[in-house]
Amino acid sequence: MLSDKHVVVTGGGRGIGAAIAAEMNRLGAKVTLMGRTLSALQTRAQQLARAGAVQVDVTDEKIVQAGFDEAIARFGPVDILINNAGTAHSSSFARTDSDNWQQTLAVNLNGVFYCSRQVLDGMLEADWGRIINIASTAGLTGYAYVTAYCAAKHGVVGLTRSLALELAGTGITVNAICPGYTNTDLIAGAITRIVDKTGMTREDAEARLKSTNPQRRFIEPEEVAGAVSWLCLPGSESITGQSIPIAGGEVM
Ligand code: NDP
Repeated sequence: MLSDKHVVVTGGGRGIGAAIAAEMNRLGAKVTLMGRTLSALQTRAQQLARAGAVQVDVTDEKIVQAGFDEAIARFGPVDILINNAGTAHSSSFARTDSDNWQQTLAVNLNGVFYCSRQVLDGMLEADWGRIINIASTAGLTGYAYVTAYCAAKHGVVGLTRSLALELAGTGITVNAICPGYTNTDLIAGAITRIVDKTGMTREDAEARLKSTNPQRRFIEPEEVAGAVSWLCLPGSESITGQSIPIAGGEVM
């Protein structure tokens, strides 16, 4: 159903990005996986039908540009961009130093800006495109101990809304998906940090995170991928500028 489309997924080597890449592959798309760890990207790409791996650090605009040039040379202009690469650092505001702040904004927010700029001309020429930003419920509400992450994800939601309006007269839609705690390495790391800092058992730390979700569970990466495919398939043309929570009712 997406067999004529070229999809780029940043952070496609694991977690939510890998699930999105698998879903796009299932729908027949050509998929380029981007991220810093080439071996992980190559392993994933080998499991997909028409896929390539490109080493890209989304915080570096020149590297991003070179990465998109390579992807476009292989599979043609990018029709669908999934800005998924992200990182989460938790600490109190007082302990958030300038490096933590800059790095968190660089990956989660600047990366979305740099990658989106690379695909815009091609999408405008085709008069069709999908830019889907994997934000977070942290883009819609505040959480203690993640000020930089919340600021970055709120920034992504703002960028999404603004760019959607700017492109509303074209065939391009721009949306954000806002997952709650999702079952990936990122959350495993958060649980380890809670255990280390509080002495809580792993089970208790997990239960504490799950308690933020009214359904009392973690989101599965495939649920996020399902929302992404819905935004790419026919029938979703009028959905733009939205930030869609996939979070068991946590935010509404
Ligand atoms: P993971 O930590 O499992 O994966 C993060 C991905 O981002 C990796 O593939 C990583 O690859 C890539 N990445 C990180 N930094 C960079 C960089 N500088 N340049 C390029 N790629 C980078 O996280 P998730 O799958 O859980 O998260 C994916 C997205 O979903 C993120 O944006 C995250 O903020 C968001 N999210 C996650 C939630 C969760 O609970 N898991 C909840 C809400 C939102 P590599 O290290 O090889 O570069």
